[in-house]
Amino acid sequence: MLSRTASCACGQLRIEVNGEPRGIGLCHCLACQQRTGSVFAALASFAAPFRITGMATDYVRTGDQGARFRFRFCPICATTVFHTEEGEEGRVSVAVGAFADPAFPAPTVSVYDCRRHPWVTLPPGIAAFDKDPP
Ligand SMILES: [Zn+2]
Ligand SMILES: [Zn+2]
Repeated sequence: MLSRTASCACGQLRIEVNGEPRGIGLCHCLACQQRTGSVFAALASFAAPFRITGMATDYVRTGDQGARFRFRFCPICATTVFHTEEGEEGRVSVAVGAFADPAFPAPTVSVYDCRRHPWVTLPPGIAAFDKDPP
């Protein structure tokens, strides 16, 4: 089966995932802008099993709809590599940039379009939602 590895910038925190992503999305919410330092987040969701190596520090943030997201980042270089949702440990959302692969498939969903910087244009055919779809 196809496997991919995402890594932090210094290389000590890694996650290996298998198969094609369940979904690939962009999030323009202000929390994602602040946690990434970029103007939107690009995330790919994968089903378990996945394999984590290295040390991670975590930070839990409660989303607008009450879900608790546990973000894992490298304590040395501070890259956010992946996060899980509490109670949904069978899947993981990985930061697309952490794969360092420009050939990674394009996103199909864009959420929190209400917070999108107006100069950010979306790929053709993407499904865009003003907030987070139910
Ligand atoms: Zn690192
Ligand atoms: Zn977000």
